[in-house]
Amino acid sequence: MDVCHKCGNPQIIIKRKQSGQMLCQECFIKSIQEKVLKDIRKQNLVEKGDKVLVALSGGKDSVMLLDILNNLRKRRIIDLVAVTIDEGIYDYREDGVNIAAENAELLGVKHRIVSFKDYLGHTLDEIMADTGDRNACTYCGVFRRWILNQVAREEGASRIATGHNLDDEAQSILMNYLEGNIQNLTRIGVRSESSYEGFTVKIKPLREIPEKETALYVVARDLPVHLAGCPYAGDSFRAKVRDFLKEISLDHPTIMYSTLRGFDKIKPVLKREFSKKSSMGICEDCGEPSASRICKACSFRRLWD
Ligand code: SF4
Ligand code: ZN
Repeated sequence: MDVCHKCGNPQIIIKRKQSGQMLCQECFIKSIQEKVLKDIRKQNLVEKGDKVLVALSGGKDSVMLLDILNNLRKRRIIDLVAVTIDEGIYDYREDGVNIAAENAELLGVKHRIVSFKDYLGHTLDEIMADTGDRNACTYCGVFRRWILNQVAREEGASRIATGHNLDDEAQSILMNYLEGNIQNLTRIGVRSESSYEGFTVKIKPLREIPEKETALYVVARDLPVHLAGCPYAGDSFRAKVRDFLKEISLDHPTIMYSTLRGFDKIKPVLKREFSKKSSMGICEDCGEPSASRICKACSFRRLWD
């Protein structure tokens, strides 16, 4: 009979394909929390006294991240602020914002909602209608990072934590290989490493947790999450790479780990050979850190201003 490998409980909720390990609900929650907290310690992702801004969309990954980081807040190791960005996506984002607020309130974490409309003057829907471009995710990602960096400074945060999981990271690695974006590859990792003072260090504490397990975690912990998919997601290159990786994972369950492990091994070489030598400067338009004269967000903003 199948029983939990940790405590012998016959009610197992997961059988890990990679290792064959079976766990009950309680032991699964504990194993995930221990793994994430151990990764944070091992990789030195936070230090005592850090104020961590959690990018909280209301989706399963960011909700799980806030729940686990809250352990460190309760032990007074770090301070937390959750920030939800309302991109202005009709019939989608509002529910996510409400669920994010519900989670922050449940955990007693300070929560801020900031919008594209406030910071850019336009919603993502308006930008897409204006530009006629189909690739919403390109704009969305650039503007979200731009806004988060500003909010982190406003909040005095020393870290920005995002809920990227193993699947997300494997997708980013593969996408950039396929597109030949070697510069982007040099920036992928568990923490951003810019020492520039206007740039808040970004960390990804869930980088080694498979997406399936983040989904199971929020169910096991009975946390409210926003399950709807973004209406723009279907168009993206990322969605195609995600489907491709998922399909190979059926026969090769460790493929995402090996993608990550292999990449982490060659990254120091990539950085040495391909990192842009130019030092970080200031965007002439907005004053945010930028490797070029005008940052990416401002070059996009010029498309409609
Ligand atoms: Fe933004 Fe694309 Fe994510 Fe939608 S799927 S929220 S457009 S990055
Ligand atoms: Zn700029």
